[in-house]
Amino acid sequence: MTFTPTRAAGLAALADFVDRAGHDYAETRNFDRGPGDRANVSMLSPYLRYRLVTESEVVAAVRARHPGETAAKFIQEVFWRTYWKGWLELRPSVWTDYLEDLASLEATSGGWRRDYDRALAGATGIDCFDAWIAELAEFGYLHNHARMWFASIWIFTLRLPWQLGAALFWHYLYDGDAASNTLSWRWVAGLQTAGKTYLAQADNIARYTGGCFTAAGLAARRRNHRDAHAGTSTADDAGAAAHRAHRAAARRRRSSARNAFARSDASRCNRRPALRAWAVALR
Ligand SMILES: Cc1cc2nc3c(=O)[nH]c(=O)nc-3n(C[C@H](O)[C@H](O)[C@H](O)COP(=O)(O)OP(=O)(O)OC[C@H]3O[C@@H](n4cnc5c(N)ncnc54)[C@H](O)[C@@H]3O)c2cc1C
Repeated sequence: MTFTPTRAAGLAALADFVDRAGHDYAETRNFDRGPGDRANVSMLSPYLRYRLVTESEVVAAVRARHPGETAAKFIQEVFWRTYWKGWLELRPSVWTDYLEDLASLEATSGGWRRDYDRALAGATGIDCFDAWIAELAEFGYLHNHARMWFASIWIFTLRLPWQLGAALFWHYLYDGDAASNTLSWRWVAGLQTAGKTYLAQADNIARYTGGCFTAAGLAARRRNHRDAHAGTSTADDAGAAAHRAHRAAARRRRSSARNAFARSDASRCNRRPALRAWAVALR
């Protein structure tokens, strides 16, 4: 990823992406094709983070190009950023508590220290994790799905404190953002939505990385939440039927996108940046 920190570069990135913000984005956005191919996402996050382009400019440009609902998925994602910011602004103690936790973790050397050092060195033996930590340090960016998997492995497989993982992302990400980062880590850990954790699964990682990783040995702890919306659907009314048909069509489109991806060039797996000797220093 190259990030030129100017408004002109942000506007150029927006202009380049806007055509792809409709069905293309909705159907392919979850695939992590590696650092060499990010055409299925916008890569606008550093520009948004530093206010070089604003959310309203992005939404206006996308809506002008894709009238109606076509770009709804993309716009929803932009609004996640806005939602997280508002949520944290209303609860500043979540941020100060995080900073305090971090300071006390850094001041101690708990039982996590050895696993933490192995994680930072990309030496956990979990193929995807070791590739992503190198990718993070090299490019200052990870795909959204990789961020979710990474955070989940950090917390549930490596059993490391989430605050240290959030600090690592903050240190490396070009788009490092107090609200989106801290609250996403909390969400994966199950602190943001009570009882709802995000558990990374090997088959899901393999499917959405085009089979690049086996991700052996991941924690198998089950999610212990019920779908918050269960039981609220309006069963067989016309709206629900239309919604089911829409979801079935979307599933078919995703499946065809997946097949196309699975057939694509095997060189996509050459995603691990040359594992040069690199040291990660948080301070
Ligand atoms: C553990 C974890 C940590 C994260 N840390 C950050 C962070 O520090 N800074 C950051 O900007 N995003 C963060 N995200 C959210 C998301 O991963 C990135 O915004 C997204 O990957 C940026 O790539 P993009 O611009 O190509 O996104 P696109 O898919 O093209 O989305 C367009 C824009 O919508 C916003 N957006 C998309 N998804 C999310 C989301 N889940 N939450 C909030 N905003 C979103 C971003 O501003 C993004 O630029 C994190 C997610 C996770 C799971």
